[in-house]
Amino acid sequence: MSLKIYNTLGRKKQVFKPIKDKQVGMYTCGPTVYDYDHLGHAWNYVASDILRRVLEYNGYKVKHVMNITDVGHLTSDADTGEEKMELAARREHKSAWKIAEFYTKIFMENREKLNILKPTVVCRATDHIKEMIALIKKLEEKGYTYVISDGVYFNISKFPKYGQLSGNKSGELKAGARVEVNPEKKSPYDFALWKFSPKDKKRDMEWDSPWGKGFPGWHIECSAMSMKYLGEHFDIHTGGEDNIFPHHESEIAQSEASTGKKFVNYWLHTRFLMIESQKMSKSLKNYYRIQDLEEKGFKPLALRYLFLTAKFRSPFNFTFEGLTAASTTLERLKNIAEMLEDDGKTNKKYLAQFEKAVNDDLNTPEALAVLWNFIRDPKATGKLNTLAKMDEVLGLDLLKKEKSEISEHVKILIEQREEARKKKDFKTADRIRNELKEKGIILEDQPDGGTRWKVIK
Ligand SMILES: [Zn+2]
Repeated sequence: MSLKIYNTLGRKKQVFKPIKDKQVGMYTCGPTVYDYDHLGHAWNYVASDILRRVLEYNGYKVKHVMNITDVGHLTSDADTGEEKMELAARREHKSAWKIAEFYTKIFMENREKLNILKPTVVCRATDHIKEMIALIKKLEEKGYTYVISDGVYFNISKFPKYGQLSGNKSGELKAGARVEVNPEKKSPYDFALWKFSPKDKKRDMEWDSPWGKGFPGWHIECSAMSMKYLGEHFDIHTGGEDNIFPHHESEIAQSEASTGKKFVNYWLHTRFLMIESQKMSKSLKNYYRIQDLEEKGFKPLALRYLFLTAKFRSPFNFTFEGLTAASTTLERLKNIAEMLEDDGKTNKKYLAQFEKAVNDDLNTPEALAVLWNFIRDPKATGKLNTLAKMDEVLGLDLLKKEKSEISEHVKILIEQREEARKKKDFKTADRIRNELKEKGIILEDQPDGGTRWKVIK
């Protein structure tokens, strides 16, 4: 069964064909680690994770590379404004290095909470300065660069294919956007490959280069690292739609100008995320992190379930009502899964429907609909094994037992209630049952006389 994905390059759904048989090279733009990651990041990285899992489900061996941008990302797309790491360092009175370490750790922990598979390679920009300088030198030798007072720039007029991904052509880019233009630049949309450190102060992160002390531009990082680990021409590049321009457009320009080859075959972009129909922003106080949802009593995997009910190529509207419903549904699904017994079979009919859905541009809402039809079909066989197979793509831990979440005190109460039941003291037994229920623990008396407990949220 063939996998079809929507390719931003060319703007259509295409049958996926790997460069090498049964192998896929995939690069995901990682976060700029200057602040907590939020629900927008979660949405984006769950989407890449589903793509990777679907590729693996289809039998491809995926080499997945993700970078960590720990230097070089400026607050303005026009390569002006402050560098985000330095900004955070000042905000928090820590070094830029400490800031990067702190937010990278939190980001990686959040990925794990969302069951996002660890990339084969996670690479930090600051560990690849040598590769970036080599790439800029190559571009310089081929005549694509020029130097002005604040850095080395890529001259987009030398690369006529600029605009092939975003549709933006030089001179008509970002119409209406307020862009502070450095008058020394030949075109407002030429972008920085290397920025010089300010003369009057020392930056936390700076390196020597053939052009002067400074730091790399954001776009060159992803070109240098993706080509290092995946080769000059690879299969898939993913990111959020806000990365299309200028980031990915510029990655293509630098990479193709330096190698003379096509850079990437398929570009996949996740649409934006809104919160309760509004743009997420700190000023609207709707800027949620995974930790905020946990504090409200939600499990991160409920968020993952909620994401799967939507298509990644549509804007996603996060609501707490939706998350509450997703929590209940996931809980119910896990309870059903827990009761399933292994009949040694796999249900080919439902699995084929499921495959068809996920292979159709990652149609996870359709895949979940197939799953529920299957679960509710009283005649369907092979439920346990088939659900396990579906969960390889969904990543919801459907068959994983919850870890014990009860305290010693609760264990003692459960034992006391067992004792009371044995003595037929039902009044005490009921009192303890109610007490536990208030603590969110449900007791289920078993036909054999034992008692099972479950934590409810
Ligand atoms: Zn990137």
